[in-house]
Formats: sequence, C-alpha cells, structure tokens
Amino acid sequence: MNLLTGFLFENKVAHGAFVEISEGVAEMLGHRVYSADVRGLIGQAMAAMPLLATHLGFEGRINLQFQGEDAMKLLVAQVDHHLEVRAMAKAPAELQGTFTGLLHGGVLALMLEPHGQSREASQALVPIEGASLAQSLEAYFVQSEQLPTLIRLAADGDRLRGFMLQRLPLEDAQGSEEDWEHVSILAATLKPEELLQADPATLLGRLFAEEELRLFEPRPVNVACRCSRAGIARLLLSLGREECDSIIAEQGRISITCEFCGKDYVFNPVETAELFVAAGSVPSNTRH
Ligand SMILES: [Zn+2]
Repeated sequence: MNLLTGFLFENKVAHGAFVEISEGVAEMLGHRVYSADVRGLIGQAMAAMPLLATHLGFEGRINLQFQGEDAMKLLVAQVDHHLEVRAMAKAPAELQGTFTGLLHGGVLALMLEPHGQSREASQALVPIEGASLAQSLEAYFVQSEQLPTLIRLAADGDRLRGFMLQRLPLEDAQGSEEDWEHVSILAATLKPEELLQADPATLLGRLFAEEELRLFEPRPVNVACRCSRAGIARLLLSLGREECDSIIAEQGRISITCEFCGKDYVFNPVETAELFVAAGSVPSNTRH
C-alpha cells in the first residue's frame, strides 16, 4: 500500500512527512516510453507531490509543471487533497541527462488550484537549481513560503520514496532557532538512497534518536490517472451513435488514447453497439 506518514516534533520546532509509493507506478508510467533518467525524474516528482500536498496547507489540486524546448518538453505531476497522484512527461525516448540537463532551457512552476470555484488559482516559479528536484523544491519553499525546508526524493524503478522536514510557520512554532538548526543538521545527513532501505519509523529513530517525535496515522496515497473506461464510454455516447458508427466503418473499431497517461481504450463494434443500446439510443442504420 502507498502511504504518507506525517510526524511532528513535540517541541513544535518542525514537522515533516515520509511517503512510500510502489503500487500503481508501473501502470501509470507504462503506457509511454521513457528513458531511465526521465522515468527517474517523473518518479521523484510523484514522490514529492503528497509531501507538497500536506505542507502547502490548502485544499485543492497542486500541479508541478515543467515546460521546455531544449531537452524535456513537458513534465506534469499532480496531486489533490485526497492524495491522488498522477504524472507524465513528454521527452525524446532516448533523452538522458542530469536534473539540470533534462530541464535545461525550460520553466518549472507550481500551480495551486483551490477546491471550489470561488477561489483563484495561483502559480509560482520553482527555481531550477542545485543537483536535484528536491533541491529546487527546497529553494521554492525558502523563496515563496519563507519556510526552511529539507527534502529528499528517491526513485528506484517503481519504488518511490520521499522525505520532508519543515520549520513550522512562525505563528505555530514554539521551538527556538537553535532547536531548528539542531534537527535540520541531523536530517541533512539523510541520503536519498537510505530512504529506499528502511521504513519511516526506523529512519526517524535513527535520525532523531534523542528527539521526542509524534508519528501520525499513515494516510493512503493513490497513484492513478483520472481516465477510465467508463469515462471514455461517456465520451463516445456524447459523440453520438452516427459518429461512432462512421469511425467503426472506417477503422473497424474505436480506439481512444488518454492524453495524460497514454493508455489506449478500445471499443470493438459489439461493445460500441452495446453502449448505445444500454443508453437507449436508436441504431443509426434506421436513419434515412
Ligand atoms: Zn489516463
């Protein structure tokens, strides 16, 4: 099961979270061809999203989006307040490179879309700096949120891990600056690859052996695209029987690809006819 485990220092100097993801990753990323480096970066972005969702303190959808021309063309990772995560990228299949190499010449941004229509979406640039996505996101938190933050992200195949430690906002924080320095220096020793080797409780015990910590009940993280066969079926119904019949006459079947994840949904003539019968539509061959 994919889990997000939050924690809080009892002296209220900082809070943080761990994320462990492995289910749904192969399905989410398996419909497009990605090089190992691009897949690794998408994995890190997916691991980052639940951490961002719990630390930006707002209800709605968060998009981490990269657009570029030199190397990678597009990277999108999304999370909502139910911790549903999805991600995709557009890049040449053979493209390899470091973090800054892959993102060369492009723009990385975080878009916050609050739940409910009355509130406006906002967007902030994420500086592309340091050697990793984690370091870029740390810079974002310092510049845009004025919150010292430490982030570690790791992706090994379908196993994605993330760790975040953040100073509590001043109005909530009770610990001193020295307390924060102490825990952040301890946390800074954590290497991304260590995230892949132990569970959150073990790692926290190792990192902060002498600190009093509260671990919260883990929350499930769901990795899935929002597309579904039922959604595509509704789309076909809205196209109408005549249009669907003409596609089948031309191509023998209807094949629709999800723009986000790249998954193909195929409806053969029988399945298509059944859709319209179930919806109470009259076959188009009765028309004049
Ligand atoms: Zn999809």
